[in-house]
Amino acid sequence: MNDLNVSRQTFDEVMVPVFSPAAFVPDHGKGSRVWDTQGRDYIDFAGGIAVTALGHSHPELLQVMQEQGSKLWHIGNGYTNEPVLRLAKRLTQLTFADKAFFANSGAEANEAALKLARRVAFDRFGPEKSEIISFTQSFHGRTFFTVSVGGQPKYSEGFGPIPAGIIHLPFNDLAAAQKAIGERTCAVIVEPIQGEGGVIPADPAFLQGLRDACNKHGALLIFDEVQTGVGRSGHLYAYQEAGVMPDVLTTAKALGNGFPIGAMLTTDVLAAHFKVGVHGTTYGGNPLGAAIADKVVEIVSNPATLEGVCNRSEALKQQLSRLNERFGIFKEVRGKGLLVGAELTSDFKGRSKDFNTAAGQHGVIMLIAGPDVLRFAPSLIMPLEDMEEGFSRLGKAIESVLHAKK
Ligand code: PLP
Repeated sequence: MNDLNVSRQTFDEVMVPVFSPAAFVPDHGKGSRVWDTQGRDYIDFAGGIAVTALGHSHPELLQVMQEQGSKLWHIGNGYTNEPVLRLAKRLTQLTFADKAFFANSGAEANEAALKLARRVAFDRFGPEKSEIISFTQSFHGRTFFTVSVGGQPKYSEGFGPIPAGIIHLPFNDLAAAQKAIGERTCAVIVEPIQGEGGVIPADPAFLQGLRDACNKHGALLIFDEVQTGVGRSGHLYAYQEAGVMPDVLTTAKALGNGFPIGAMLTTDVLAAHFKVGVHGTTYGGNPLGAAIADKVVEIVSNPATLEGVCNRSEALKQQLSRLNERFGIFKEVRGKGLLVGAELTSDFKGRSKDFNTAAGQHGVIMLIAGPDVLRFAPSLIMPLEDMEEGFSRLGKAIESVLHAKK
């Protein structure tokens, strides 16, 4: 063990190759800027995939982490702790929910939601009521149950038989959903804005129609707000704007601003079906993650923060339309708050990755949502000067792609 020098190349040597990271290696960050190991700086439009909602190294979060870190990190679920109780109180006071279950990721929060839905249906109606309805292009995580429920077959293929009773329907097609939801349906799971699937907002009438059909047939409506939640849509949770209340809501990503934590929120009546021992986790609800998440939710739920998201959303969309006036590369700009997608025109079909790579070369960290969409999910408190600088760099990156095309 005498050579622990590492570089990007080390990734290819010692890491399981499920990712293909950029050529540079980020080293530290502050706010919406990141520096790599060579000292180059980047404007961060990705927020660690819609996670660092309060930017990097937020001073109040650092303080909470240090204080709680020096008290108690982990205790196990044979005991509770004050940070998790405060977080559960805060989340239930701010949402429709009465009860919270904590996990470590979005996939695990969804796993809990789907298991709860199956258990509720089993208890109330028996084993026949087990069908789960989800939508094509949806994304709910990478555990085996959640890739099976997700609407992108490439993530579930090649892993053996997928669990039975999962139906995929076209997104935003209410007539198809009304036809499919019936007495065997135990739950419908939907993202209020499909994130990984291309930043596609659900029509409010679609969500309301799902709510009505679930009510009619005794099925649960699950909103996966792992990507849209914690202020990203301009509301603490996107359902609050849509005016449609779910039975179960899942949240993660920005909840810990990068500290891994997820939660499933639900009502008293439904939570009662998860009795002692029916579900669990080792790390979920640990005091360190809970203390950090509690501070995140306190800051994000402040109306001034949420108003700031709406202002930044306008600024970001304006910058994108200016870019489009110059280059004409976008067919559509869509999304809400600071979850924005720019779909490339047919001339650039399948080339989102090329733009992303060029952005990195020009000092911008960005995201894609499939082969045709550039995705923006920056910090909710991104300084406007950083946004402007990022778009100036992005303009140069786009020029380089267009130049290479000629
Ligand atoms: N659900 C949605 C809507 C997501 O966007 C994601 C991640 O991108 C997940 C679930 C999975 O979350 P995690 O990667 O934390 O398991």
